[in-house]
Amino acid sequence: MRRIAILGSTGSIGTQALDVIAANPTLFELFAITGHSNVALLAEQARRFKPNMVIITDDSKYLELKESISDLDDVKVFAGMQSVCDMVAMSSVDMVLTSMVGYAGLQPTIAAVKAGKTIALANKETLVVAGELICSLAAQHRSAILPVDSEHSAIFQCLAGEQDKSIEKLLLTASGGPFRTFSLEQLAHVTKADALKHPNWDMGAKITIDSASMMNKGFEVIEAKWLFGVQKEQIDVVVHPQSIVHSMVQFTDGSIKAQLGMPDMRLPIQYAFGYPNRLPNNYERVDFAKIATLTFEKPDTNKFRNLAFAYDAMDKGGNMPCILNAANEVVVHAFLHDKIGFLQMSDIIEWAMMTMPFVAEPSYDDYVACDALVREKVAQKIG
Ligand code: NDP
Ligand code: MG
Repeated sequence: MRRIAILGSTGSIGTQALDVIAANPTLFELFAITGHSNVALLAEQARRFKPNMVIITDDSKYLELKESISDLDDVKVFAGMQSVCDMVAMSSVDMVLTSMVGYAGLQPTIAAVKAGKTIALANKETLVVAGELICSLAAQHRSAILPVDSEHSAIFQCLAGEQDKSIEKLLLTASGGPFRTFSLEQLAHVTKADALKHPNWDMGAKITIDSASMMNKGFEVIEAKWLFGVQKEQIDVVVHPQSIVHSMVQFTDGSIKAQLGMPDMRLPIQYAFGYPNRLPNNYERVDFAKIATLTFEKPDTNKFRNLAFAYDAMDKGGNMPCILNAANEVVVHAFLHDKIGFLQMSDIIEWAMMTMPFVAEPSYDDYVACDALVREKVAQKIG
């Protein structure tokens, strides 16, 4: 039995992870769930799964949650991020799925890593912001980080049985999002409703906007650097609109391995939960006769500048990826609230990268200060 804590159980990844646990009751036990604002869903999940602990990170919702499940005697209810950090370090937890969104995942991920837990990592923003710190802590505390992001799960699966030194290149596939074929002129006028319609994946709002702007792929490039210990020159992005090839590894002899499957996040979640075992399921299979064509093209970084910014931030290192992430979180929020246009998001991120103070070797406190400062300045700029 693997005892699992799900951080962000009320989200897109979190709910799919619960499906995986429900389908494998003899392998996985749900120890704890956390949510931020969705009290009704968190309460429903607590009722259905009866985990030992339920935590709501927004303290103001504690009483509402507590009252709605007051009849569940064996389920303890807590509030706040510190409770999450304490919970992930408990000896009853074997694995922590980090599926909360954004920078908020940093503190509990670090707590879980320091406690030597196995991390099933969905919350890529933590590796973008503080990849160096997290990886060195993971090595120090023998915490294994298993990727949940579909591209990184694909690479991880391609690397099974291979040696790290045999990697020549990682080929990260990208769907290209809903605006792949749009001109700059068209991009200037897209709305949030257009951006929220992803062609292949059904995800939370923030990552859906990141996918439309290709910031998600930029983040994944940085995520790949830390997860697989490769250099900037060894990570290529290939646009593949069908989202069937989830990513590829090119080896030093020129051979390429790819992992394919239907676009269904339960697959990489299940792979991380069950690792190193493959678990049977009845999810939809790839039918090549139906798909007929798989196509590949080069990403256009003139249109999707965020992808180039991510490579620049990775190259610069230090707190630059933290600046990139904080600026992005604020502009995505502003775009989702109709305060700025689609292309303005990249303009403001570029401004933040050029003007915010650079720290070459940031400590944890430097990241916290940088994140707060960038949020404040970018919010001021948006007005
Ligand atoms: P959602 O927006 O669907 O869910 C986010 C989760 O985080 C919810 O449980 C939410 O709680 C919680 N949350 C929101 N704000 C906070 C906060 N300030 N503190 C603590 N918890 C918070 O996101 P997704 O499931 O789409 O994505 C989650 C993570 O997984 C992201 O980092 C994303 O990049 C990554 N990912 C997602 C994929 C997908 O297919 N969705 C694919 C690959 C990676 P509540 O709803 O209760 O407010
Ligand atoms: Mg992905």
